[in-house]
Amino acid sequence: MSFIAVDIGATKIRVASGSSEGMDEKIIETTDRANGPGGVSNQMIRMIREVENSPRAIGVGTIGPLDLKRGMITNTPNYPFNEIPVVEPLRKEFAVTAKIAKDCTAGVLGEHVYGAGKGVYNLFYVTFSTGLGGGAMVDGHVLVGKDGNAVEVGHLTIDPDSDIMCGCGCPGHWEAYCGGMNIPRFAQTLLWRSEWRRSLLSELCGGDAEAMTSEKIFDAAKQGDETALRIVDEIGKVNAVGVADIVNAYDPELVTIGGSVALNNPELIMKPIRQYVARHVINRLPEIMITPLGEDIVLYGALALALEAE
Ligand SMILES: [Zn+2]
Repeated sequence: MSFIAVDIGATKIRVASGSSEGMDEKIIETTDRANGPGGVSNQMIRMIREVENSPRAIGVGTIGPLDLKRGMITNTPNYPFNEIPVVEPLRKEFAVTAKIAKDCTAGVLGEHVYGAGKGVYNLFYVTFSTGLGGGAMVDGHVLVGKDGNAVEVGHLTIDPDSDIMCGCGCPGHWEAYCGGMNIPRFAQTLLWRSEWRRSLLSELCGGDAEAMTSEKIFDAAKQGDETALRIVDEIGKVNAVGVADIVNAYDPELVTIGGSVALNNPELIMKPIRQYVARHVINRLPEIMITPLGEDIVLYGALALALEAE
């Protein structure tokens, strides 16, 4: 009998079996969006059965927002359903304890139990992905909040007068600048026309600034394109403000960074943060590094939750 970890992402569900030693078997599927909220629960159950028929306990790390008391996802912008029940269907099906946490909340726990945060009790995990999120452990306690939605650092305000609107409807949030989906729009505001025309980035976009994607910006930067490097530096300045806010608010010993944008471009993301963060910090600087758990950090967190749940 293994413990079961589930990671419900914006587009994919991952399920793994494992123990305090780590993961054993892992499967990944694209989330079933066609069969309503029940379709997601059923998919999760079927995937769990593929790796373990009688789990000891189940941990779930998921996109939010959460309604922790009801054990479900509510009003998520990522799926066309209002509520996705998670804990109840799992308990019914397997008759074991199931615990749920927001993805980055699970992430910081995963880092503490399996990753770079072993023996570290003031720890922060940030994800730079389609969106931005964070999880905090302070004095050994993982911060959860009244509904399970604490530490939404992606929605910290960088500039209240900004014309750049966040997907949540507020102006100037960190995620509006540096979330993978929003980076191209921020980049467009930074372009100098004369510079754009002779840049490699423009060439990669067929001359159309509207065709910019995060991937193209980072690819051009990796090839030394000055326009792309300047954009990456500006993204990094905003990220440094965000990380500094985290350091000032939570006083961590260690900040680990994950998410596809950071994992695919570790140097380009980390260098400006290291360069600019001290400007904005009053607390003693923590160590800042890319998570060694990579794209599995939430799944590791879910596994740690399952161990706690038993
Ligand atoms: Zn926002």
